[in-house]
Amino acid sequence: MQYFRPDSLEPALDWLVEYDACIAAGCTDLFPATTAQKLAGPVLDLTAISELRGISQDDQVWRFGATTTWTDVVRADLPPAFDSLKLAAKEVGSIQIQNTGTLAGNLCNASPAADGVPCWLTLNAQVELQSKGATRTLLLSSFITGPRKTELRRGEIVTAILVPKSSAVGKSSFLKLGARKYLIISIAMVAARICEEDRLISEVAISVGSCNAVAQRLSEVEKHLLGKPLSADTTIQITDAMMADVLQPIDDLRSDAAYRRDAAGELVRRCVGGLVPERSMAV
Ligand SMILES: Cc1cc2nc3c(=O)[nH]c(=O)nc-3n(C[C@H](O)[C@H](O)[C@H](O)COP(=O)(O)OP(=O)(O)OC[C@H]3O[C@@H](n4cnc5c(N)ncnc54)[C@H](O)[C@@H]3O)c2cc1C
Repeated sequence: MQYFRPDSLEPALDWLVEYDACIAAGCTDLFPATTAQKLAGPVLDLTAISELRGISQDDQVWRFGATTTWTDVVRADLPPAFDSLKLAAKEVGSIQIQNTGTLAGNLCNASPAADGVPCWLTLNAQVELQSKGATRTLLLSSFITGPRKTELRRGEIVTAILVPKSSAVGKSSFLKLGARKYLIISIAMVAARICEEDRLISEVAISVGSCNAVAQRLSEVEKHLLGKPLSADTTIQITDAMMADVLQPIDDLRSDAAYRRDAAGELVRRCVGGLVPERSMAV
């Protein structure tokens, strides 16, 4: 089997021109997806490319390198807008999975149950893709096109996930429901990010994952919340009807569609409710 583990990006991109390779990072999705003893080659292993790992920022964006692990996210010093991502990171599999699994692997695998996706959607994240001699950037909402389907082209590597500084504001949260508390794939999960100005909601992003085939933003719920005080009352008024147009829950071994619909609605209310400031709790 052809196996290549370069220590910089350039030779990796050159290699992809020659070989239609399986790109491997933490392999925590790749290995469970095969019953073979080895991955079918050729395999391009990204884990020695240091420029692909780490979190940085400039005037415009926060940049999360493709092979940044979930543990890297948990340990990073990030503004509260990324609390949802940190909460998701702590619930991806086990510590061992978090030490190995990468941010881009989670997106490229395009599982409906990928915990990172709803968090990135609330942050208006973009996916940076590089091939030999070219770089393009796609909104995450355009990158994942279906279950296990993405816009990744032959010869491309996801090199980073970018979050515009203008979206890295406000506070955020994440809630996940599984059949048990630990080491579990989500039945449904919700991420919410909210900004307040003069005690009114000035910006809001809410998304649900593991419900539809691809995680979705809830535009009706966002419209309902915009301009209102962030209070327990406003949260209680979030109805399932506001999500009905968007949520088309899947039936699978983890849950049927009806349970998913109920669970998602309740998770949305609890996730937003968790962001209500204490001043608004007083009766
Ligand atoms: C026991 C267990 C529990 C898990 N629990 C959870 C969970 O709770 N929540 C959750 O969301 N996930 C979970 N996962 C799935 C997995 O750990 C994550 O999705 C992880 O982030 C995948 O990253 P990886 O680096 O291991 O991906 P890999 O397995 O290396 O790759 C996954 C896919 O992405 C492609 N790929 C990887 N990197 C790139 C790149 N830079 N450019 C282009 N293509 C790329 C690969 O070709 C492959 O198709 C679990 C997995 C296991 C084994």
